[in-house]
Amino acid sequence: MSGREYRIELAGNPNVGKTSLYNRLTGSFEHVGNWHGVTVERVEKKIAFDGDGIVLADLPGLYSLTVYSPEESISRDSILNDKTDLIINVCEVNNLSRNLYLTLQLLEIGAPVLLAVNMIDELKKRGKKLDAEKLENRLRIPIVPVSAKYKADAKRLVEESARYIKSGKKRKTELTYLNKLPVKEFVSIIGRNAEAAGLKHEYAAIKLMENDAYVTDLLKLSDAQVKEIGKYGDLQPVVAAARFKFIDEIMRDVIVADNSLKRIAEKSGKAGFRGGIAIDKAVLNKYAAIPIFLLVMAAVFAITFGLVGKYLSELFGLFIEKCLYDPISNSLASVSCPAWITGILCDGVILGVGGILAFLPQIVLLFFFLALLEDSGYISRVAFMTDGFFRKIGLSGRSVFTMLMGFGCSATAVLTARGLEDEKMRKKTVLLTPFMSCSARLPVYSVIASAFFAKGQPFIIFGMYILGAAVAIMLAVLFEKCFKKLKSGKLSFIMEMPPYRFPTFERIWQIIWNNVKIFLVRVGTVIFALNVIVYVLSNFSFAHGYVVGTDYKSIFEYVGEFFAPVFAPLGFGNWRAVTSLLSGLVAKEVVISSIESLGGVSAIFTGDYAALSALAFMVFTLLYVPCVATLAAIRKEAGRKWMLFSLCLQLSVAYLCSLVFYWIGRLILSNMGLGIGLALLIPVIVFCVCVLASAAKKKSLCGCKCAGCTRGCPNKNKNGGELRK
Ligand code: GDP
Ligand code: MG
Repeated sequence: MSGREYRIELAGNPNVGKTSLYNRLTGSFEHVGNWHGVTVERVEKKIAFDGDGIVLADLPGLYSLTVYSPEESISRDSILNDKTDLIINVCEVNNLSRNLYLTLQLLEIGAPVLLAVNMIDELKKRGKKLDAEKLENRLRIPIVPVSAKYKADAKRLVEESARYIKSGKKRKTELTYLNKLPVKEFVSIIGRNAEAAGLKHEYAAIKLMENDAYVTDLLKLSDAQVKEIGKYGDLQPVVAAARFKFIDEIMRDVIVADNSLKRIAEKSGKAGFRGGIAIDKAVLNKYAAIPIFLLVMAAVFAITFGLVGKYLSELFGLFIEKCLYDPISNSLASVSCPAWITGILCDGVILGVGGILAFLPQIVLLFFFLALLEDSGYISRVAFMTDGFFRKIGLSGRSVFTMLMGFGCSATAVLTARGLEDEKMRKKTVLLTPFMSCSARLPVYSVIASAFFAKGQPFIIFGMYILGAAVAIMLAVLFEKCFKKLKSGKLSFIMEMPPYRFPTFERIWQIIWNNVKIFLVRVGTVIFALNVIVYVLSNFSFAHGYVVGTDYKSIFEYVGEFFAPVFAPLGFGNWRAVTSLLSGLVAKEVVISSIESLGGVSAIFTGDYAALSALAFMVFTLLYVPCVATLAAIRKEAGRKWMLFSLCLQLSVAYLCSLVFYWIGRLILSNMGLGIGLALLIPVIVFCVCVLASAAKKKSLCGCKCAGCTRGCPNKNKNGGELRK
């Protein structure tokens, strides 16, 4: 490229539309969601503009330059980096005053800022308009009102940004409130330290007033300096009040009624706003919220797997069989092709890969509904409602987001946990997310449930999703109560409830396409290769080559038979089931294609308790390691030790739950009363054990032998356990 290269960063509060603008401008498909903390990493892409190159970066949301979470610090570091030519500070017009709090901090450090005021379409619906000129005159930086919904607006934003950078003008906002703060005094006290730490003087001074832990650490102040600064008292509330007062002045008469928009406002006011309140009354009701959520999800599953998805998938499967499998196998037979080649091609590739591809319609439908629920703002409300409960078990509404992402792909979901502010909570979320049923497990449930449970199939599948979530919650309780290393305790947590928004077709398509793309790439690469490998290993032996139709055992048969006794207590101790599970370690979809290529479900689950064995197998599939990619993601986020812990945890939980399911099931089938009684007794026993363990722990917390010692006794003597007088 002959022109120059500019670096532009999109920065702003969470949920203001930064990623939407980024996607519009770069043609990317980064995750957009009506939710806080969706973007957890800095992403950048180069675009060509007017003969120049622009490297545009999308940053995670942040409220202030004083940060509280790892993803906010990514943004802060990017902003403080002097290489940036322009920061497009994206604000949301509905919350402009609050958003300007960050803007002021950007201006305080002298960053080159352009203000993009987004969601103008929503303001119009309220019958109001933004007086951009007035705001520009007061703030003295370029203001560009936009709506990320429209391509033309995004284009205008780049044009204005490029023009501003090229003009070389450095506009200077008069931040009059700074004159009332002891900035100069602080600079004279800490100037040298700021220089040594590579910080701008004014930035360091203001952050020190705000008790910013990061800057305070970097400055390495001497005791004398600390004492000197201490004389000014706590300036944090003073700084905040000064900024907000300044914002109030700037915002006076900036958003005004527009009579020409009155009609639009009346129309949308009736349909949208009041409707939203009515929905919130039910959805945010203390008692109704969870039952409503479960009903909504049950309906989604009934449509996805029962009413519509099942027939679409069957149709797709039929198409593959009639249009690919039959003609190709017939033509290969007509030219007397060797059986093993026909086997690999038709059974291994077409049936194996095609069988998984047939689940595409169900995956599209599931993500269509999840996208609808997420982008409308409903899922955030569920997270908001359940936040109190989740905090009690050491998680938060934002952990819920990561865990819900786990319904898509466990490996990518684990990476979104990076946005969680508390380290222990982050680790816990990373450990629990693999228990959420990812879409790769869907084909397994779908095939097995339709073979053994016919019309009950959608409910069995829904049950699997619920079971995964329930196991995750129970483990969260266990971690919080019994594992000191994972106990996050009470956390302060900011979460806002976003407004209801009508999801656009484009955004829904984006979410569907992102997931479909992951699925198709997996089918075309890993799953394709694995199917061939599984076919070869289960139909060939080292000594005798192709063993189909002979009495010799295949390689997999040997391996499977070796491990089979371990799984016998779970009801599926045969080599076919075991090798299917083994191949599923790389990609879960392969479990079902292995089953198909090893003779189908009817060959694997046999005997009087066939359906029960199949159910136990589904439970095991749900709970054991999703895939090696997830383990790699866990390692990346939490380290090798936790990855190994997670592996052992998943395998043991899967084994235990599967065992309990199988034997309780058998008891119910042979003695209904006893079986149900025992099934009810187990949770009661678990509850009692938890209560007793918690009580015992409280007693032993101090470790002192002395009578009357209270918990957490500060005078504990490590050696004798006696009170110091
Ligand atoms: P980010 O957190 O700042 O990256 O925000 P996102 O790009 O993820 O968007 C947050 C939510 O706002 C999503 O539901 C978007 O669909 C929605 N959104 C973004 N820009 C606009 C806009 O201009 N108008 C409207 N009505 N909604 C928008
Ligand atoms: Mg974002």
